[in-house]
Amino acid sequence: MTTLAEQAVGSFRDRLEGRLVTPDDTDYDQVRSIWNGAIDHRPALVARCATIEDVATALGFAREEHLEISVRGGGHSFSGASICPDGLVVDLSDMNGVEVDPDARTVRCGGGATLAELDAATQSYGLAVPAGTVSHTGVAGLTLGGGMGWLTRRHGLTVDNLLAADVVLANGSVVRASEDENPDLFWGLRGGGGNFGVVTTFTFRAHPVGPEVHVGLFFWDIGDGPDALRLMSDLVPRLPRDTGALMGVGLSAPPEPFVPQEHQGKLGHALIVVGFGTAEEHAEAVAAVADGVPTLFELRTPMPFTALQRMLDDAAPTGILSYDRGLTYSDLNEHVIGVLSGYIPRKTSPMSFCPTFHLGGAYTDVDEDATAFGGLREPMYVMSCSAMSPDPEVLTADTAWARALWTELTPHAANVGGYVNFMAEMEEDRVRRSYGPEKYDRLARVKATYDPENVFHRNANILPAVAL
Ligand SMILES: Cc1cc2nc3c(=O)[nH]c(=O)nc-3n(C[C@H](O)[C@H](O)[C@H](O)COP(=O)(O)OP(=O)(O)OC[C@H]3O[C@@H](n4cnc5c(N)ncnc54)[C@H](O)[C@@H]3O)c2cc1C
Repeated sequence: MTTLAEQAVGSFRDRLEGRLVTPDDTDYDQVRSIWNGAIDHRPALVARCATIEDVATALGFAREEHLEISVRGGGHSFSGASICPDGLVVDLSDMNGVEVDPDARTVRCGGGATLAELDAATQSYGLAVPAGTVSHTGVAGLTLGGGMGWLTRRHGLTVDNLLAADVVLANGSVVRASEDENPDLFWGLRGGGGNFGVVTTFTFRAHPVGPEVHVGLFFWDIGDGPDALRLMSDLVPRLPRDTGALMGVGLSAPPEPFVPQEHQGKLGHALIVVGFGTAEEHAEAVAAVADGVPTLFELRTPMPFTALQRMLDDAAPTGILSYDRGLTYSDLNEHVIGVLSGYIPRKTSPMSFCPTFHLGGAYTDVDEDATAFGGLREPMYVMSCSAMSPDPEVLTADTAWARALWTELTPHAANVGGYVNFMAEMEEDRVRRSYGPEKYDRLARVKATYDPENVFHRNANILPAVAL
């Protein structure tokens, strides 16, 4: 860094209420590390913003110094979009406050909060905001791409529960987006990712949930794999709205206390069905599982909602090496089951598998054009071909496996772009296909209004519409 730059950096540091971290700081490596350990980018500066003014100051400094910027919420994007090599990271990790208004059932959540922080605050009032399934994920990136989890069938995507957002635009101005204020921006934020600005505060609608929920976990040996997938394809779309479901296709049984020792490490398929009603309603919802294909092991238990939200945390620990490629299909038919059954045994890492959501219930109540979320509001499966390992060579092998599986599935896919939040590689063509031409064009017009110079491009990038 030149002397002039050092002076500029010193003045920038003085103007921040938060902290400026440089490669000279002892915690630089810790501050720049993100969930996906396969990403090793070295930014020039990390601005740990403390206030909305800090965010504007950081964007202004990047503009003056011609630095690329990235925006970090929870640091969980598979692509490592939140850290830019040689640029400035606008890091919101310390802007993680969550305030609940229990009477209005609304929640104001900082742009750097994690799901764990959101859940802890809301559950103390018996409320929850529909979000994801791993508690160390960031609220910001998850929300801006859509947000799906246990409560999606009951209350829709996270974006379907977004009421407003405070956004710092590339020029440093601060705007509010809601149905009444900048509605075009509000539409774009609900699915269009971090393309338009830095969201410092999200306001969500919350719902009464728990504190106790009912969990059924069912695991089938790979030998019964095709029949288990057929059972899931029959059962899952018909589950009551008061349940959440996640399929673990090609899961290796984890070394958890609830897995009998003799079955730990075995390859198979898992289904988790969460009931938000009574124990009897949950038992009724999963009765067809018991009557169907015999499981290798199963677990049925009540648990606190916050424990459910942490249940899968260790299956995807921070620092693991990862690659993801997703798609959607409307039907778990014989073609899909055939491809999955052929490919699952070819994975190398016990941590690699295909987490699969089925979107239905409240998800389909929302009008197609109401948000920018890039999926038709019809029942569908959202799958991620997910490679994970602590070993780089194994990751390379399973990345090839994930890509090959994805390629074989594409003829049967409803959308080969898939969910933008399940993209380790954000190719322009797949981003366009994820949204479809009409939504992409509308997003491009919003982008041209709010970020015409494409300052926010480390994301599933929408190119600004060009004025004709
Ligand atoms: C272990 C794991 C589990 C997951 N489980 C689920 C799940 O159950 N459901 C689901 O829907 N998704 C899930 N995801 C995907 C997740 O939604 C995305 O990885 C998401 O991008 C994470 O957001 P983040 O804020 O943690 O990530 P980041 O990497 O910090 O950000 C992701 C993107 O959003 C931008 N961004 C971040 N913060 C802001 C902000 N405040 N303002 C503007 N832009 C911002 C970033 O620049 C980047 O482009 C999971 C991911 C992982 C790694």
